[in-house]
Amino acid sequence: MQNITIIGAGLAGSLLSIYLAKKDYGVNVYERRPDMRKAKISAGKSINLALSTRGIHALKEVGLYDEIKKISIPMYGRMIHSLDGSTSLQPYGKDMSEYINSVSRGELNKMLMDLAEEFPSVKFHFNMPCTSINMDKNEIYFRNDETGNAETIKSDITIATDGATSPVRMEMLKIPRFDFKQEYENYGYKELHIPPDANGHFRMETNALHIWPRGSFMLIALPNMDGSFTCTLFLAYDKSLGGENSFENLNSKEKIQGFFEKNFPDAIELMPELLNDFVSNPTGTLITVKCYPWCIEGKLALLGDSAHAIVPFFGQGMNAAFEDCTYLNECIDKFPGEWQKIFSNYQQLRKVNTDAIADLAQENFVEMRDLVADARFQLKKKIESVLFKKYPEIFIPKYTMVTFLRVPYSVALERGRIQETILHELIEGINKPEETDLKKADDLVKRMLTRLEIIS
Ligand SMILES: Cc1cc2nc3c(=O)[nH]c(=O)nc-3n(C[C@H](O)[C@H](O)[C@H](O)COP(=O)(O)OP(=O)(O)OC[C@H]3O[C@@H](n4cnc5c(N)ncnc54)[C@H](O)[C@@H]3O)c2cc1C
Repeated sequence: MQNITIIGAGLAGSLLSIYLAKKDYGVNVYERRPDMRKAKISAGKSINLALSTRGIHALKEVGLYDEIKKISIPMYGRMIHSLDGSTSLQPYGKDMSEYINSVSRGELNKMLMDLAEEFPSVKFHFNMPCTSINMDKNEIYFRNDETGNAETIKSDITIATDGATSPVRMEMLKIPRFDFKQEYENYGYKELHIPPDANGHFRMETNALHIWPRGSFMLIALPNMDGSFTCTLFLAYDKSLGGENSFENLNSKEKIQGFFEKNFPDAIELMPELLNDFVSNPTGTLITVKCYPWCIEGKLALLGDSAHAIVPFFGQGMNAAFEDCTYLNECIDKFPGEWQKIFSNYQQLRKVNTDAIADLAQENFVEMRDLVADARFQLKKKIESVLFKKYPEIFIPKYTMVTFLRVPYSVALERGRIQETILHELIEGINKPEETDLKKADDLVKRMLTRLEIIS
């Protein structure tokens, strides 16, 4: 069997190495950081993540889901925290069988690496940042951070899972007609912490994703296995966009304290280390990357964030990266050993869909930070669930298609837009879901939508 080189042992690279090892490929995975199972390093980006159906499907395919389930906390809905301290739960799914899962990025990454290493054909090489590539010579260049030496590796098949700022993708910019677009949000994020209470218990509802929507900014919190919550504040960087509600303005402990007292009075009580956390934790950036092509002949392909970084507001970046692995695996089955066909089919199947989830994720930011607190939006959600019950195979909420089904993201985007038009027509002039004109709804649904093809 051919040997395959993977660059980046993050979530996607580690998972992909298992898929490939199961097919008897020899796999060398090169990672720029030390081994996170030995060194005490941050897993990078967010501490915990929402894992849903697409990611779960991939974990089941490699046989790891039962183990991951043990470190996952189900979240059945959004717990909305109003300014007056009142809370209300907006369920994510049709019933308790539909939920998303809070999981630790670090633990998940370590478990993926552990499973990968059970295959003798997989070898991880840590402290090895890739510095450049030369696909004419099939060579990849690394800096060995342990020895300080440069190293060159010959590789016939390379898959770059080196994340949103992918150095390999940067090298691909040299290819004629390589399309590349990156878009930074004028918003950053800051991770904060709600520790468990004195008895080690959660200090808020455990099985929910907490949101404090405040119009142009928001705070969210996901539960961890140790009884704590990781909170993330999403806020404008610049005063020019956010005014006093911006990272630029929160430049003293007094201002930070004042901002939280004013906007999150119920959360501040639960965050004894708020000021220290705020000052010492970095402010993360939010980027969307679209590029094309994702591959060079049958020699190299991008996968995961390196091909399509998205903003985190639909909780789909990792899920989409894991779904890339599922699709690449299917292409390997379909065209055994024919890597040019494998890569070009994989790219064709995925590109349109990852473009779609990038757009969906950007749109969802407004929904999360603003609309969830809006009475008309809530009414629209209720009408949506009436229609979902009445037409369970036709009118399926966008959130459900993205999160609980494996419907292609592009289909979810397109049908979501049509459904939005239908809801827009139905909500006009009414104040309660019971007032929905069901005859008009029937006409619109049957005229504008067809039965949805579900992928199991
Ligand atoms: C705040 C935030 C919240 C998020 N929440 C969610 C969520 O709830 N659900 C969800 O599905 N997704 C979420 N995501 C997205 C998710 O984190 C990413 O989509 C996911 O990590 C992508 O996996 P990846 O393996 O492609 O990239 P990464 O996880 O970034 O891994 C890339 C790896 O490559 C390594 N690397 C980089 N450069 C080099 C180099 N030169 N040489 C060798 N190795 C290199 C890195 O060290 C890293 O290990 C969130 C992202 C953010 C920022």
